[in-house]
Amino acid sequence: MRETARSRSGNDHLTAAIESMQRAWPTPDGTRCISRIGVVGAGTMGRGIATAGLLGGFEVVLVDVEADALARARTDIGRLISRAVDKGQLNAAKAEQANRRLVTADKLDALADAEIVIEAIIENIAAKQKLFSILDELTPADTLLATNTSTLDVQAIASATRRPGRVVGMHFFSPAHVMKLVEIVRTDEVSAESLGEACETARRMDKLPVIVGNAFGFVGNRMLYGYGRENQLLLLEGASPEAIDAALTSFGMAMGPNAVGDLTGLDIGYAVRRGWGERPDDPRYYRVADMLVERGRLGQKSGAGMFRYENGSREPQPDPEVAAMIAAEAGRLGIRQRSIGDDEIISRCITALVVEGCRLLERRIARCPADIDVIWTYGYGFPRQLGGPMHWADNKGLDVILARADEYAARVGEAYWSAPALLRRLATDGLALRSLDSEALA
Ligand code: NAD
Repeated sequence: MRETARSRSGNDHLTAAIESMQRAWPTPDGTRCISRIGVVGAGTMGRGIATAGLLGGFEVVLVDVEADALARARTDIGRLISRAVDKGQLNAAKAEQANRRLVTADKLDALADAEIVIEAIIENIAAKQKLFSILDELTPADTLLATNTSTLDVQAIASATRRPGRVVGMHFFSPAHVMKLVEIVRTDEVSAESLGEACETARRMDKLPVIVGNAFGFVGNRMLYGYGRENQLLLLEGASPEAIDAALTSFGMAMGPNAVGDLTGLDIGYAVRRGWGERPDDPRYYRVADMLVERGRLGQKSGAGMFRYENGSREPQPDPEVAAMIAAEAGRLGIRQRSIGDDEIISRCITALVVEGCRLLERRIARCPADIDVIWTYGYGFPRQLGGPMHWADNKGLDVILARADEYAARVGEAYWSAPALLRRLATDGLALRSLDSEALA
C-alpha cells in the first residue's frame, strides 16, 4: 500500500487527496437545501462570489452601502456571465436565468430571506463584527453566516453574534468566479452541520472546499508569508526581482512572487502585516515591499512596484531604480550582496513552504499534508505535476529538507528556520509526510 503511494505522480496524488477529502466532508442535513445566498460587499471578491453563486444556480442578493459599487457590480457580473456563455459553460437561456436571479440592494434588510450570507466587506475586524451583529438580528436563527476574511480571527467575528455555531469562514481566492479553492475555516464552536453546509454550497458553486483551522492567514496565506519572507530576504541579499521570478516560474510556479505582489497590490500585504500581532521583530522582514509602498510604488495599479509598467501595460519591466533602492537598503542594514543562483532561490522559497506547512500540521490548523497540497496547487499556482509542496518534500526526502532547514537556520535566521519537531521526528525515523495522510484518513 505504502509502495503504491510512494510511486504516485503529483497529479495522481492530488486526485487521491481530493477524493479522500470529499469522503471526510461533514454531511449537511438533507432536509435543508440552500437556494438563496446573500453576499455583502460588491467589491472585487463580492462580485466574483456572486457570479459563482449565480452560475451555480443560486438566487443571489448582493448588498453594498455604495450605490456606485452596486451598479458596477451588476455590469461586471453580466459581463462575466456572457463570458461563460462564450466559453461554452452555459447556454444563452441559462445565462438569462442567471442574470434574473441576481438582486442588488443598498440595505441589509434585503437579506432577511437568505439561507446563507457570505460577507466580503473591507478587511477590518471592527467593521466585520458590527456587520455580523446586525446580520444576527436581521436573519433567521438558522441562516449560516460566512466571512470571506483572508486573515482575521473568525472566532472573534463569530463572537459578535448569538449563533457562533452557525458562523464559518469561507475564504475564496481572486478572481472568485474562476479560482477553485475555498478554505472553509472551522472555529472551536462551529457545528459540523454548518461546516457541511459551507462545503456543500462551495461545491455547488463548482469550487473545491478544504476545511482548515482558525489561525492568522489560515493555511494558504500563512504559508505564503514564509515563502514571501524568503523572497524578500533574497532581494536584500542580491537576487533581483526578475531573477527570483524567473527561477520560481522555471520550477513551475504559475507566476513569480514579485509579479504576483504587483498584481494584487503591495499595499494589501503592507496593511495586513501592520495588523499582525506576531510580526517578527526583524528590520529585514518584508523590508523591500514596505519601502516600495512607502514610496508610493503599489504595483500595477500605480504603474510601478517591484517592476515598472509602461502606459498601462501589465508586462513587468525590470526597474534599475528598484535595484538601486534595494542595494542601498542592504548596505544600510549591513547585508553584503552576492550573486545567488536559481537553485538557492528555489530551495529557500519552496523549503520555507514545507517548514511552515509542518508547523501548521503540528498545530492542527491543517488536517493532513494532502490538504496542504490541494490548497497550494488549486489556490497558489504550485505546479500540479509536482503534487504540492508536501508531496515535493517527500520526493526530495525529509532528511534533505531537514538538512536544508538546519543550514538556513544557521545562515539566514533561527527564528524563521528552526525545524519543527514533527519534521525532525519524521526525518529521523525515515518516514514521509504522507504517512500522516494515512493517519488522518484512518
Ligand atoms: P473591496 O474593497 O474591493 O470591496 C469591499 C466592498 O465592501 C466595497 O464595495 C464597499 O463599499 C463594501 N462595504 C464596506 N463596508 C460595508 C458594509 N458595512 N456593508 C456593505 N458593504 C460594505 O474589497 P475586496 O478585495 O473585495 O475584499 C473583500 C474581503 O475579501 C476582505 O475581507 C478581503 O480580505 C477578502 N479577500 C480579498 C481577496 C482579494 O484578492 N481581493 C482575496 C481573498 C479574500
